[in-house]
Amino acid sequence: MDESIGEMNFNYLLKYVIVGDASVGKSNLLLRYTHGEFREEYQLTIGVEFGSNNLVINNSIYRIQIWDTAGQENFRSITRSYYKNSACALIVYDITRRVSFESLSDWIEDCKNSSPKTVVMVLVGNKCDLAQNREVNEEEGREFAEKHGMLFFETSAKTGQNVEELFKQSATLIAKKIKENYYDLENDSCGIKKGDEENNVVLGNAKANEKEKKGGCC
Ligand code: GDP
Ligand code: MG
Repeated sequence: MDESIGEMNFNYLLKYVIVGDASVGKSNLLLRYTHGEFREEYQLTIGVEFGSNNLVINNSIYRIQIWDTAGQENFRSITRSYYKNSACALIVYDITRRVSFESLSDWIEDCKNSSPKTVVMVLVGNKCDLAQNREVNEEEGREFAEKHGMLFFETSAKTGQNVEELFKQSATLIAKKIKENYYDLENDSCGIKKGDEENNVVLGNAKANEKEKKGGCC
């Protein structure tokens, strides 16, 4: 059954978007999660519009499809269509640049205005490997997240610290909401798509844990 994780083989597809100021590490978080890689040099866009990765939660396959902003964030010109149909929004700041923390309210406002009401928001304090240059302490991040009803993680796209955790925990929360019938799945505006029944995979084998590495363009 080599084809067990093929193109259509998922039970649920969850659309994630990543926002935050330029250079906080959004593209590298995506790269780390979908390819296990990191790039030192800054690139406006890494030529990938989205990546995806499969996760197994309670015997179902969740395909996490993550959309990256590829540079538009410089002008805060990310359009409504970007947020549309998103199940989860990762709002990222850089713990070594306070100014990126101070922009959060704007990002949250944009996200709330343009995402479905059901969107799960996650606050991500990235670059936690650079603790010696820290300008935002962890407690402050956590309090901000609590105040806005967000999950919170400090991550490092460089070392990978907490990156898997962030996706796993947010997807687990979404999976729980799916089971509680929180979403209207007939209507994919909530950013969740059910897999084709025929292609749904009944799990229980190790293969299910294999990651699928997919890029968008290029
Ligand atoms: P984006 O503009 O938000 O997509 O940011 P990038 O992912 O392109 O990263 C911007 C710069 O920060 C690059 O030079 C990355 O190598 C660096 N960077 C990203 N994440 C981390 C991290 O977790 N730790 C460290 N030390 N550098 C990072
Ligand atoms: Mg980028």
